[in-house]
Amino acid sequence: MKSAPKVVIVGGGPAGVRVARKLRFGFDVTLVDPKDFFVFIPLFDEYSVGTLPPSLVKFNYSKVLRGIRHVKGSASSFDYDHRTVTVQLSGKGKQQSVLHYDYLVIAIGAGPNSFGIKDNIFHIYDIEHADIVMQHMCTIRERIKKGQTVRVAVAGAGPVGMESAGVVEEFIRHYSVKYKNNSKHEVIMFNAGEEILAGFSNKIREMASRAIEARKYMSIDNFCFCQNITKKGDYYILDYEKDKKKYTGIFDLVLWRAGMKKKSINGEKYVADEYLRLKGSTMPYENVFVAGDSAVISYKGMHVPELAQTAVQEANQLARNIRLKAKGLQMKKFEPHFHGTIITIGHMNEIGHIGNNGFVIYGFPAWVLHRLVYLDQMYDLEHKFRYLFKWSQALFRQRYAYLKCSRK
Ligand SMILES: Cc1cc2nc3c(=O)[nH]c(=O)nc-3n(C[C@H](O)[C@H](O)[C@H](O)COP(=O)(O)OP(=O)(O)OC[C@H]3O[C@@H](n4cnc5c(N)ncnc54)[C@H](O)[C@@H]3O)c2cc1C
Repeated sequence: MKSAPKVVIVGGGPAGVRVARKLRFGFDVTLVDPKDFFVFIPLFDEYSVGTLPPSLVKFNYSKVLRGIRHVKGSASSFDYDHRTVTVQLSGKGKQQSVLHYDYLVIAIGAGPNSFGIKDNIFHIYDIEHADIVMQHMCTIRERIKKGQTVRVAVAGAGPVGMESAGVVEEFIRHYSVKYKNNSKHEVIMFNAGEEILAGFSNKIREMASRAIEARKYMSIDNFCFCQNITKKGDYYILDYEKDKKKYTGIFDLVLWRAGMKKKSINGEKYVADEYLRLKGSTMPYENVFVAGDSAVISYKGMHVPELAQTAVQEANQLARNIRLKAKGLQMKKFEPHFHGTIITIGHMNEIGHIGNNGFVIYGFPAWVLHRLVYLDQMYDLEHKFRYLFKWSQALFRQRYAYLKCSRK
């Protein structure tokens, strides 16, 4: 009997996991990832301030990948001619494993773009960083309790910066009321450009500006270029430039939300053709596919944005193409369907548009739609129900019930 074609998927984020689950029947699937669990990055901000439990942002691969082989390690090189992937196995010293494939999928995601700043960067691309931010939130809570004034800087005023600043401001406001601390706290977003939310419609930008102005402790500083972050005692010193002058600010925390950088193995760029195959120097590689944040994907000359919703669509199409190819049929071109973008500026304060800069939506309907989009990306009914329950509770009261502070 003919054995099932071997598919090796490198990267177990929304893109990689989706491909693995779509191909688990009829293919011999192996997923390579250094972690034991799948994480859902879009909810890390809520997790780091303690409004969501770890069980709703982190899911063991043993459950998510039931029936699919997981090799715990990091791919260190690809040999497209011999169809192999070399994997550096996690926790096994220098031990490597060489995996053979009939089809390879590269979906290794992205990390923060720190523009050369090396130290004291608190990004939110992995759960370890979200945990570090959580410990800083614990310190901030303690300082508010002691009557101190707290200041948080957020580098970046795009949708991700906006969301982080929103949840942190709410956290500070909540504990200021609870501990009767009336200090003039600050959450400042440092924006390199002239306007927030570059690339969004004017209407969305205006609404976001108004929402920020209405916040007690939130503000934006435009034309600011963050240059260096140093630690002094328990505080962080941020050096930045504005109007060609140098400034320094002292903060309890500096959150880095100033853009992303595609991950790569050995400096390679993962540019996709219209079927989501990896483009080579002259021809696409017939059996190598790319998806998600690490891939460079264009549609009708436009760059496809790096989002969980597009990563999942790419994964669905890519899995279909592998099936078609395995049957000797013609593959289908990838066509993204942009459902829209919703920006959160704190709890129940969503603004967005449906489709590509289409109908504007805000308030409760936007909150519901945002949750529905997330639900669509969850893997099983159990998790969908648990989310639904948590969010229904949050409708009535936002609770910081999952803030876990380690003792110093
Ligand atoms: C703070 C934040 C908020 C966001 N909010 C939203 C949102 O509201 N809506 C939305 O649609 N998108 C959002 N995004 C974007 C979304 O998270 C990403 O687009 C999505 O996670 C991309 O999925 P991916 O599978 O390509 O990559 P990732 O989720 O980054 O997963 C990549 C995986 O590859 C693994 N990996 C890396 N290197 C190797 C290697 N060498 N070998 C093996 N495995 C490797 C990693 O461990 C990881 O598991 C947000 C992103 C951030 C940072």
